[in-house]
Amino acid sequence: MQASRLVARTGSVDETRALAASVAPSVRPGDLLLLAGDLGAGKTAFVQGLGRAMGVTEPITSPTFTLAQRYDSDPILHHLDVYRLSQLNEVLDLGLGELLDDGGVVTIEWGDAVVPVVPSDYLEVRLTLADVATPDDREIVLRPVGPRWTARRRVLAEAIAPWAVKDDDGEGVAPC
Ligand code: ADP
Ligand code: MG
Repeated sequence: MQASRLVARTGSVDETRALAASVAPSVRPGDLLLLAGDLGAGKTAFVQGLGRAMGVTEPITSPTFTLAQRYDSDPILHHLDVYRLSQLNEVLDLGLGELLDDGGVVTIEWGDAVVPVVPSDYLEVRLTLADVATPDDREIVLRPVGPRWTARRRVLAEAIAPWAVKDDDGEGVAPC
């Protein structure tokens, strides 16, 4: 079950954090968010904005080498990275299902390999460098997968409206 994608564009790291902060009120305990995109795309920046808006006060840093970070927000925020394929099994060893069942919010900076091993109920956030001529621009595509997130598509669209480009039908979704 998939809803159509939501497409946005930001022009700075602070804008990406602000977009992520706007998504935070839509996030519920037990939610999974998959962050996709090349190194330097802004996956960690997105989690920083999200976490800050969820009440995390300590600095949120890339978990590339620590593998997993847990932040005492409400709900608890878990920040995982499976940049190295070998980390995939380690993530499974962490008990992803348990983290979600316990009411945590799990964000994973991922390689494509992670999709088959996670629940098929998640929000995919894909960040890409839009254009080499505008190195601080990022296209951010939100793709709700599964019933948990498809039900929230409209709320998400409203949350990211200030940065919206178009939806799948090519319709403008920017507020009037
Ligand atoms: P990733 O986790 O995907 O490897 P990071 O969030 O660690 O990426 O780094 C993104 C880098 O890109 C940061 O240095 C940030 O300042 C820079 N940047 C420039 N423009 C943007 C933007 N619009 N959104 C996010 N990051 C941006
Ligand atoms: Mg990162």
